[in-house]
Amino acid sequence: MPGTGRTRVVGVAGRFGARYGSSLRKKWREVVERRYSVYVCPLCGTKTVFERLSVGLWRCPKCGRVFAGGAYQPYTEVGRAITVAGERARPQERSSSQ
Ligand SMILES: [Zn+2]
Repeated sequence: MPGTGRTRVVGVAGRFGARYGSSLRKKWREVVERRYSVYVCPLCGTKTVFERLSVGLWRCPKCGRVFAGGAYQPYTEVGRAITVAGERARPQERSSSQ
């Protein structure tokens, strides 16, 4: 049915109206602080600050393993199980006897 003209175009800018300015900033600060919080590595159990490789990808500086977590924190708020995105192939230490 044409003619209703109800199609609203909500752009990216529309989401950040002045109305939400302060609360958004507060939320963002929370997110940033969370990024640098200490978490327990699910793979080696070390309490450490994770390195954020990209959105949802975190690396434990202790064991060097990469795993998927939340976008802004190693753990998602809903408490989803963390899946190992990929283990670093460690070069096997060979005893150079020759
Ligand atoms: Zn680890």
